[in-house]
Amino acid sequence: MRALIIVVATLATLGLAAFGVVAAQRANLPGSAVVAVQAAKPVAPLAASPVSEKIAQPAVQAPIAAPAAATPAPAPAPAAPAQPIRLAQNSAAPNGPAPAGAALATATPPGSGAAANSTGSCDKPGAMGLARTVEIDTKGGPAFGFEHFKQYDFLREHEVVLTFDDGPWPENTPAVIKALTDECVKATFFEIGEHATWHPEISKMVAAAGMTIGSHTWSHKDLAKNPYASDIEQAKQEIEMGVSAVHAAVDGPIAPFFRFPDLQQPPVLLSYLGERNIATFSTDLDSFDFKIRRPEQVIKSVMTKLEKRGKGIVLMHDFQHATAEAMPELLRQLKAAGFKVVHMVPKAPVTTIAKYDEMLRTQDKLSVNNTRPENAVVRTISGN
Ligand SMILES: [Zn+2]
Repeated sequence: MRALIIVVATLATLGLAAFGVVAAQRANLPGSAVVAVQAAKPVAPLAASPVSEKIAQPAVQAPIAAPAAATPAPAPAPAAPAQPIRLAQNSAAPNGPAPAGAALATATPPGSGAAANSTGSCDKPGAMGLARTVEIDTKGGPAFGFEHFKQYDFLREHEVVLTFDDGPWPENTPAVIKALTDECVKATFFEIGEHATWHPEISKMVAAAGMTIGSHTWSHKDLAKNPYASDIEQAKQEIEMGVSAVHAAVDGPIAPFFRFPDLQQPPVLLSYLGERNIATFSTDLDSFDFKIRRPEQVIKSVMTKLEKRGKGIVLMHDFQHATAEAMPELLRQLKAAGFKVVHMVPKAPVTTIAKYDEMLRTQDKLSVNNTRPENAVVRTISGN
């Protein structure tokens, strides 16, 4: 009898242990541990300037650094909203006992979408609207985009995430924002730090429209090349100055979302971003819009690739005039083809590093007196 009890007890223990192993393995599964789903909630409309003239060619070097910004229009709203429905662990260290079933939390809590709350609701009749909002837990620096990273596949068939690089830029960025808000959809913008210091009012406008804002280095350097490849401190500075500059331009929280210029992603810097809890975004689908001059070709490029892939994180550039011009029609075609837009928000905003905030403040010493808005300094007193 005693022997029987021992046998039964042993079997029970082994069973529990086996269950534990299975549970632990499942908790290790990628994807849903990093991404939580929030209620779909559209955006409030935002008045933005219409598309107008073209900017000739992607300017690599930009205008004379003019830190004195024009008066920012609307009050900045947090780009990185808080408290959606959550769930998530680190991608690198599977320390979370996330039970497999709890991995992906979908919810439609009334009014709980912080992203939406910052801008109110969007109830334009016939507008595309957001299919859902997903929250990304950036702890450990998860990386997304099937072109390089295959682990996290959070989009369903016919879902797209729209991402825009290299802004903020006059005319083009406001035109993209207008097209998105006209359809009640949201996107993620990876801004270049220097551009954000030149056009902070546009960064603020992007944030006020409820878009998610990440960063794209300080000055768009290929970090896989020298001097950055051989000097990690310089590479870190290029990344961190970008984070600090975009953060300063928005003057509010931004997302710990990062995209490497030219999608050149040195492993050592991915590790660094992991320590910083900043997520990396490659792409599922590159529009190559920077090589395209005509809006209809941008549309064709995106639609053809999406129809082939069925879904994806789409890489475009709000810096590009053709893309800005293409957006209204592209959104119409996406909708007609049954595609739905998913918006990504971070679980928590990025933290900047004081050393680089300070570097940002001192990098433009020549303009130290130019802190007042232009319209307070210069006014027309005769003529038109
Ligand atoms: Zn870029």
